[in-house]
Amino acid sequence: MEKCPVCGGEVSRTLGSTWASCPYCRSPLLVEEGAVMARYAVRPSLDPAAALRSLLRWMSGSEPVVGLPDAAIGTPRLEWLPVWFARTRGKGGERTHERRADDAAVLEARRRLIPPASMIRLTGDTHPFPGASDFPQPTVSAAAFRAELEGEEVLELALVHVPFYRFTYSFRGMAYTAAVDAARGEVRPGPFPKKAEWPFNLLAVATLLAYVLPGFSFTGVATGQPAPAAATLIAYAAILPLSAAVAWLVAKLF
Ligand SMILES: [Zn+2]
Repeated sequence: MEKCPVCGGEVSRTLGSTWASCPYCRSPLLVEEGAVMARYAVRPSLDPAAALRSLLRWMSGSEPVVGLPDAAIGTPRLEWLPVWFARTRGKGGERTHERRADDAAVLEARRRLIPPASMIRLTGDTHPFPGASDFPQPTVSAAAFRAELEGEEVLELALVHVPFYRFTYSFRGMAYTAAVDAARGEVRPGPFPKKAEWPFNLLAVATLLAYVLPGFSFTGVATGQPAPAAATLIAYAAILPLSAAVAWLVAKLF
């Protein structure tokens, strides 16, 4: 028998499969390979309007194509990302670990997905979120996560449901999706229409040529040819600021 991580009551290891609830305290649990685990959810702190503001801020940023905030943006859906969570004790003391429990190809290792302060353990008498029945099950096994914690004493292993808003939008006849973290407002764009790079590349080549080509005639200075006129030198010095100005215009237009 295993113990319910919420009330300590003895729970059969074969209780249901994956999603289960404690027969004593009715808390939502997760059963996998004989282990009975608690489940947590992160409290959403953004409403859909605030999530939309985050998305629009990102859309007017430097990476997306100019004009993206004019895209037709649909009403977002609140969805839940399953994330494995562990507290361990090892050489470095107590630590927490997390790993996405869905099998999406992109692992966003740069960011922590779980803000610890807003983690709420799901118990029998608290059903804080209306979407609670739609929590998706993990597709990465607890065993795979546990293997990453090798060498550490596992104090707790649990599943955390992390809320995000899924937006769909269309721009110039193409459909896209983007996710906005419902706890912190961070935008996690999928593939999106980016700024074109060719105008910048072309400009860089043109600037380089503008320096190099007259440079060949300047090398004549040392070999006894007449010095270049002041006007030529001024024009030469103007290339860089001119190029910067054109780059600024290009960034505004594309
Ligand atoms: Zn219980």
